[in-house]
Amino acid sequence: MVYRKPTDTEVVDAIKDALRRHGVVSSQRKMTELVLRELRRHDPDYSISEERVRRLALKNDLADVVIHGREGREKTKAGACPVCGGKTKRLRNMTVYGGTVTFGYKCNACGYWTGLKHRVPTLYIFSPKKPS
Ligand SMILES: [Zn+2]
Repeated sequence: MVYRKPTDTEVVDAIKDALRRHGVVSSQRKMTELVLRELRRHDPDYSISEERVRRLALKNDLADVVIHGREGREKTKAGACPVCGGKTKRLRNMTVYGGTVTFGYKCNACGYWTGLKHRVPTLYIFSPKKPS
């Protein structure tokens, strides 16, 4: 079987259609299935990864995504957001001695946050973006 890769524009349209039709989608796997169903109306050989659906939905501001996570064992490293690929920023608190201490990291693009132990995303809930 030959798999074909849809373009970003096709994926974005499919995400919009899937959200319009289904409203809140309670997992990334479900979201990907729905997007694939939309895409395959155009080409039955289309295939797409869960990660590509998530990143395109966030990058194009198509969905509000609630991220559930569990605390992992590894220490969090500053840098790229594991959810959307954006940059994470340090969360700091003032100390009583007048300095600051980092207590976690947050991504302003998608809202992912983590403490000093790396928070592993386990579930994503997608809902259509409310008109602002
Ligand atoms: Zn992010």
